[in-house]
Amino acid sequence: MTASSPRDDDASIALSDAKRLIDAAIAPITDFETVALGFALGRILAHDLISPVDVPAHDNAAMDGHALRSGDHAPRRRVVGQALAGEPYCGPVGPDECVRIMTGAMMPPDCDAVVPREETTSHECEIEISRQVRAGQHRRRAGEDLARGAIAIARGRRITPSDLGLAASIGASTLSVVRRARVAVFSTGTELRALDQALEPGSVHDSNRYTLMGMLARLGAEVIVLGIVGDDPAALETARKHACSDGVDADAIVTSGGVSAGDADYTREALQKTGRVSFWKLAIKPGRPMAFGRVEVEGGRASRSALLFGLPGNPVAVMVVFHALVREALSTLMGARVEPLACLQLICDAPLHKAEGRTEFVRGIAYRSDDGWHVRPTGAQGSGILRSMSEANCLIVLDHHRGEIAAGAIVEAWPFDGLT
Ligand code: AMP
Ligand code: MG
Repeated sequence: MTASSPRDDDASIALSDAKRLIDAAIAPITDFETVALGFALGRILAHDLISPVDVPAHDNAAMDGHALRSGDHAPRRRVVGQALAGEPYCGPVGPDECVRIMTGAMMPPDCDAVVPREETTSHECEIEISRQVRAGQHRRRAGEDLARGAIAIARGRRITPSDLGLAASIGASTLSVVRRARVAVFSTGTELRALDQALEPGSVHDSNRYTLMGMLARLGAEVIVLGIVGDDPAALETARKHACSDGVDADAIVTSGGVSAGDADYTREALQKTGRVSFWKLAIKPGRPMAFGRVEVEGGRASRSALLFGLPGNPVAVMVVFHALVREALSTLMGARVEPLACLQLICDAPLHKAEGRTEFVRGIAYRSDDGWHVRPTGAQGSGILRSMSEANCLIVLDHHRGEIAAGAIVEAWPFDGLT
């Protein structure tokens, strides 16, 4: 663990250390299920998908033209038939003969090359070839895309639209995928109200529930909403135990609120009653207060446990911490091969105030200009201003070790497209 902040917080740890701690605490789900291909988008493949066939299944033409035997040098060839996609020509083809062929059509058994249409002149039932023919030219080999026995899609892959097509191309009508993680969500705060409740002075609608539902759904988790819990230790303990109970049986619990500096020690104590806690203040902004641990509950037959992510209450901080930590953690839990988020390199239009010793996230709007891609920060960056998260199209990520950012400097950003 690294003491990250130059100031008071020796308990604040760097994002990279937090990731390592979380990673070490996660045992990926090993249960799997079989789903019809049409329902596999976004699921995590549980076992390597091995191709039982060659793709393409046969040698075929890569261009429209004429198929022939390249070893024979006759410049004029009689057209003896045609091969279309799905309508092969299976007859013999002699030395001075050829077969009219369309892209994708199976190569006639005697032929090894295709002469493109533009390299021939047609005379009635004959063609004249204007260029030397190379053996195998414009022929796609069977198994060129994927050989029989090869891994078509590796386990741990989050299934994309192209994977669906690839699986279909080898005839896989079902896929074996990792069971979805069951993630219980509750919002803590005595001031919170559900959408059907009136707002009296000082109360706010529970918006984090919906943001989290959206991000978790995109991640492919099964979300169990446990509602609002007031700032009351006994009620919080009951809610955490309920998340681990028979009916809910969560793999992970994601809460928002109630972990900010004022509540921290008390939260830690409360959490320790129902499990193990790695509690920290993260060296990031926004999102410094964050609790991570495991809730453990002794039950009838066996004890149950769930990972606990106690996120801050501020609506922007919830999203930032989710993108920075929870997304990757839950992907690992679901057996996914986790790859770092792709970063854009952008020219920053405005100077940014940045403290060394913490990772900072700034909502930005990336746009294209004559000299390349730029980013301008959305206005006020208060961590309660969720509107600016909707206005932004990327999150500028300012590295832990970086100091002040001058206007015109290059910054990295995560585009929202593709993020949860
Ligand atoms: P906390 O982390 O509990 O101190 O909350 C920080 C701020 O976020 C407070 O202004 C809360 O009212 C607000 N907040 C906490 N939870 C939610 C929620 N579920 N939806 C909307 N705002 C919230
Ligand atoms: Mg609160």
